[in-house]
Amino acid sequence: MRTALLSDIHSNLEALLAVIADLREENIDTVVFLGDIVGYGASPNECIRLIDELADTIIAGNHDWACAGKNTIQGFNPRARAAAEWTRKKLTAENRGFLLSLPLKEKNDDAVYVHATPCFPESWDYVTSRSEAKFCFESFSAKLCFIGHSHIPAIFTLPPDRKMIAQSPDTLMISDDSRHIINCGSIGQPRDNNPMAAYGIYDSKKKIYVLKRVAYDIRTAQEKILAAGLPDFLAKRLELGR
Ligand code: ZN
Repeated sequence: MRTALLSDIHSNLEALLAVIADLREENIDTVVFLGDIVGYGASPNECIRLIDELADTIIAGNHDWACAGKNTIQGFNPRARAAAEWTRKKLTAENRGFLLSLPLKEKNDDAVYVHATPCFPESWDYVTSRSEAKFCFESFSAKLCFIGHSHIPAIFTLPPDRKMIAQSPDTLMISDDSRHIINCGSIGQPRDNNPMAAYGIYDSKKKIYVLKRVAYDIRTAQEKILAAGLPDFLAKRLELGR
């Protein structure tokens, strides 16, 4: 079974379309979306409709719930808040209802899927260090946990000796005796200094996870952000990858 792990589109239609084109070449059996369809970019409704069609499992992100009015935007920085307020005005009633209906966490025999952390998903904390990862491993029993939220690809491995490892986020050979928390990066607003859209593929038969990078039409995404009157930096950061 080949599972595509997608996260953090943030209303970037151009990045999402490029990833969908790439998926067609990849012989994917199932698509999991790990949260934040909207917020920051200029095409919220288009991205929601595409993900609804494409993904078999869809998890809520903090921006999804904030833009739908379920969460407060008080903790957001000024740019994120401006984008959330803009998105609230643009969302159709149907798409707002769709965002409100999304679950915080899903799981199957193999893996847990969550936007922020598997331990307290509703707190929207980050897993960016080995100590944070170690704490999270206590909260689930599956072999794998796929997350998004930081927009920075990462793999934390808990081996049998329990000495936590932060390893290269690009490829992972999955062994029988270790467990992993995997961040598959962001499609629509990467922050690891690489502006290309990021997503992951997990092949459960070959026991391999691979992070993919896809070039997309950044210029058009930027022009739409500026034309929408969203903060300039939200356009600029796309070409910087941060
Ligand atoms: Zn996000």
